[in-house]
Amino acid sequence: MVKSVLVLGAGMIGVSTAIHLRERGLDVVLVDRKAAGQETSYGNAGLIQREATRPYAFPMNARDLVDVALARNNDVHYSIGALPALAGRLSAYARNSLPGPYGRIVPPWRALIETCLTEHTRFIDATNSWDLVTQGGWRSGFRSEGRDFDAAREDAITRVREDGLSVDIEDSRTLASREPALIRAMAGSIWWKDAWAVSNPGELVARYARHFTAIGGAIAFGDAATLDRTASGWSVRTPDGVLNAEATVVALGPWSDDLAKRLGYSFPLFVKRGYHRHYTCTAMPAIPMLDVEHGVMIAPMQAGLRLTTGAEFLPRDDAPSPVQLDVAERGVREIFALGAGVEATPWLGSRPVMPDMLPNIGAAPRDPSLWFHFGHAHQGFTLGPSSGRLLAELMTGETPFVDPTPYAPARWLD
Ligand SMILES: Cc1cc2nc3c(=O)[nH]c(=O)nc-3n(C[C@H](O)[C@H](O)[C@H](O)COP(=O)(O)OP(=O)(O)OC[C@H]3O[C@@H](n4cnc5c(N)ncnc54)[C@H](O)[C@@H]3O)c2cc1C
Repeated sequence: MVKSVLVLGAGMIGVSTAIHLRERGLDVVLVDRKAAGQETSYGNAGLIQREATRPYAFPMNARDLVDVALARNNDVHYSIGALPALAGRLSAYARNSLPGPYGRIVPPWRALIETCLTEHTRFIDATNSWDLVTQGGWRSGFRSEGRDFDAAREDAITRVREDGLSVDIEDSRTLASREPALIRAMAGSIWWKDAWAVSNPGELVARYARHFTAIGGAIAFGDAATLDRTASGWSVRTPDGVLNAEATVVALGPWSDDLAKRLGYSFPLFVKRGYHRHYTCTAMPAIPMLDVEHGVMIAPMQAGLRLTTGAEFLPRDDAPSPVQLDVAERGVREIFALGAGVEATPWLGSRPVMPDMLPNIGAAPRDPSLWFHFGHAHQGFTLGPSSGRLLAELMTGETPFVDPTPYAPARWLD
């Protein structure tokens, strides 16, 4: 069995993997060019989404597609110029969202989601982090009755019946009494009660990282691009010297394919960019709320009321174009007492997405000492501890708690 590992990337995925490997007695160094939890795992909506039993599919009904095409829907933003480069990946994503393939993707996705609360609980306990966590779920809020709210109610009832979720369908009066911070009446909401909300996602990852060092792990600053093969494994250069290990885990989130390509592996990873900004707010909502009509998640955080946007289909490194956030902010001002923006400019990050909606968790087909762990899309903050456990089990030869085949990186490679 391998004894030493470099884990490249200290987001929720890399940190969780590092803890699981260290718990199994391996010598683990976590390498990042920044402090732990400063990138995508910092900027998300902070939801531990036990209710996300079905991955986020490509919009397939004609009305949604027309809304997206005509830019009538603030969930999605794209530029025509960016689409040709993305066409192959998006059409694979759309094909995988058809009922047949999607039906085969849901069970392995759900197998990871189902363990997210148990696995996070272990880490939250170990880091005394319950002060950051509210076990109160979140709401999809609707301003008006109509087809969207009807469809959401139907979906919620199905998910209760088929996925065993705990959901409350709230009418206007119930919602107003349970969420007194609302300053305008809404038609109602779906309350997804199984989820948890974290008031400072980056801090939670930082605490998990401190726990990793407390149990004997090491953290080093360094650039993953300096990774090299050596006679006995892998090396990476840091300002303090060269680090060597027998195995390497690539957990670089939306940057993972840059390194994978250099190592000879081409993955169809693409990104859905998203923005957030905090605002002062005199009356914070008790739990996060999705303003469905404006495609914005409104989450009470330590830094203020965080508005996070939906998916933007632009290249990862293109300049920010926070048009969705502008629309979102105007909308949220109508329902909550939103004050001034806390930061001068919005945060921009990228969800790392695979066209079959499943993350890559497993060994590189041609290098048994190289492991890939990325592509957790909309739910990487939720999935880190579960997914990290699976990868650690595979690396140490334990019986994995779920069948790892659907997540194997080999599925993309000839
Ligand atoms: C707007 C938005 C809202 C979201 N909301 C939620 C939510 O509510 N719940 C949820 O579960 N998920 C949510 N997500 C998704 C979730 O945030 C991601 O899936 C998750 O953070 C990915 O974690 P990661 O560790 O793979 O990547 P990251 O957190 O990005 O970590 C990758 C790390 O690699 C490092 N790195 C990159 N390149 C190099 C290099 N060359 N050398 C060294 N280090 C390098 C980076 O510094 C970074 O620390 C959201 C995402 C967005 C954008």
